[in-house]
Amino acid sequence: VRLKASQGAHMRTLFRGGTVVSASGEYRSDVLLEGEQVLALGTDLGLEADVVVDAGGALLLPGLVDSHTHIGSPDPGKLDAFRNGTRGAVLGGTTAIVDFAMQSDGSLLDGLQRWRAQASAGSYADYGFHMIIDDVTPAALAEMARLVEEGVTSFKVFLSGAKAASDEDVLRVLRQTTSTGGLVQVHAENGDAIRVNVENALASGRTEAINHATTRPRETELEAVERAIHLGAWARRPIFFVHISTKEAVQAIGRARAGGQAVHAETCVHYLVLAEDRLMRPGVEGAKYMCAPPLRTEADQRSLWSGLRQRLLSACTTDHCAHSVKGGKDRIEVDFAHVPNGLPSIQHRLVLLYEYGVRQGRITLPELVTMTATSPARLFDIPGKGEIAPGMDADIVLFDPEGSTLINASGDPTGVDYSPYEGEQCRGSIVGVYRRGSLIVDRGEVLASPGDGRYLHRGFGAFGPGDRSAL
Ligand code: MN
Repeated sequence: VRLKASQGAHMRTLFRGGTVVSASGEYRSDVLLEGEQVLALGTDLGLEADVVVDAGGALLLPGLVDSHTHIGSPDPGKLDAFRNGTRGAVLGGTTAIVDFAMQSDGSLLDGLQRWRAQASAGSYADYGFHMIIDDVTPAALAEMARLVEEGVTSFKVFLSGAKAASDEDVLRVLRQTTSTGGLVQVHAENGDAIRVNVENALASGRTEAINHATTRPRETELEAVERAIHLGAWARRPIFFVHISTKEAVQAIGRARAGGQAVHAETCVHYLVLAEDRLMRPGVEGAKYMCAPPLRTEADQRSLWSGLRQRLLSACTTDHCAHSVKGGKDRIEVDFAHVPNGLPSIQHRLVLLYEYGVRQGRITLPELVTMTATSPARLFDIPGKGEIAPGMDADIVLFDPEGSTLINASGDPTGVDYSPYEGEQCRGSIVGVYRRGSLIVDRGEVLASPGDGRYLHRGFGAFGPGDRSAL
């Protein structure tokens, strides 16, 4: 495969001889780009191209969408975070992210402004935002309509953690979307139970990382999922569950959907590939694997793969959090409750899912594309993204299925000093990444500049105003 940079507003680039993968299948096709968009698929398109890229032997995947990242910061000056995180994104074939902006000083709009400023200056990937609401006040509820106008059409509440929402809070946010439209996302763990468990563990001197898992048993996810399903039904609004980790939660989502309720969910790559035995490792080695909900069992992994195949789970995201060992995971020296939760993986999702999913026979290539691009793009109404089709953004990953990728944290593009996947040898390699028609990654080298990413003004797709419980 030979790559050539394509620039210019009406430049036509032809990918010849590759295999295009979509959510519905894979087929040999040439792909013609014009400027920032896909113009046509088919054969005999060569006469019209300014640049021809020989894609023989390569897979052409739509640029991946990561609809669950934590890159931005409440600190408006923290530009490095966006540069580092989205450099990892594009190196991993992810051309569009939806980052979680946070309510700041009580204000949703202020939070959005802080996140947008960082992304505008620093993002290599195209970017949109969800909004975390952690203080459900009348003023915050009133701001939700403004957020929708700004293209932020999903709102996340936590049922656990320092700023957990009460059932009343969740209902108020859900009810507000009856008039504003939009989708409410839920972090589903029972925070009260976890708090008591953590207190008990620390009081009896259990400080190691494995206690992070034992204090957040699977029932704490199931209870919160079932409760939120009820809240969604009462409000007659859809619910989206972030990072589902257990078999029982997948089953609860299946039951709600079989009953006609609009319940959607994702899981994350680490719940598919890593299990809770990693947390048994002593000291910081265990803390490297701390995320919430915690890693689970191999039986849960099987259920999550199955849930993805059945589309009970719509997406596989990263929940990327750039906590290093130094100054982060090393706080296990105090105890597990002091360790920041979250794993870095934004740059590894495609190769991990290709190895553990496609090559090991758990999913097909179209299923990989569905869960990493097409489905999240549609669910979160991300314009132009998620498939290679005429009129869509020319976001294309050239993937060599016979290549190989070794995951190694030294020189990590996201600035994190470790990887939970250190030493993983995955089949397949990313040859090139195009974002809106421009070659932005050429064999591991980033050619774009920070700030090249564009804001993604999202609509609310199927989740408009009104009674939407049965979508
Ligand atoms: Mn998260």
